[in-house]
Amino acid sequence: MNERNIDPNAPMIALTYDDGPSLRLTPILLEELKKNNAVATFFLLGNNVEVYPDIAKMIVENGNEIGIHGYDHSDLSVLSAEELQQQMNSTREIIEGATGYTPVIMRPTYGFLSDTLRENVNMPIILWSIDTFDWANRNAETVYNSVIENVSDGDIILMHDIIESTIEASKALIPELINRGYQLVTVSELSQYKGVPLEPGVVYKKIE
Ligand SMILES: [Zn+2]
Repeated sequence: MNERNIDPNAPMIALTYDDGPSLRLTPILLEELKKNNAVATFFLLGNNVEVYPDIAKMIVENGNEIGIHGYDHSDLSVLSAEELQQQMNSTREIIEGATGYTPVIMRPTYGFLSDTLRENVNMPIILWSIDTFDWANRNAETVYNSVIENVSDGDIILMHDIIESTIEASKALIPELINRGYQLVTVSELSQYKGVPLEPGVVYKKIE
């Protein structure tokens, strides 16, 4: 893998993919990222990592970031503190077991928040500044346009790597974003290079 040299003064964005890993689609996306010397952030579900630990491992090995999205896609905003901890801890342990990596960020399912979640999650809460609605439109061109027409420095872009059309969109998006001068970085890298430390219980939608 080529070394990635990030210019802190040049535009950068974070592509994020939720709900995986997918046995068939995630490796295609990983290959596409690698080919373009780019990385992304994957908010994984514990129950999918249990089934596909090798793909979770490949995500980390390729320099991408993993965040927690819960164990089974329950709505985390309606859980008690104890139930929330269980979803978070089980998923963290499963990801650690599969990859050796300990996640430091989370994204609540559906982007739904509650005071209980904010107070007990003990991790920065990463939402997004561009929603592609890829799960609803299932159209590569619509997803592509929703990013290209709206993208700006510091954006966090929401997609799902379990959707075929999203992978197709990503194949076009990744090289085109780079072509337009955007560095594709992880959420933690975005925080690091923008000099915005991520704090537990705080919600982030864009980091600039
Ligand atoms: Zn989700």
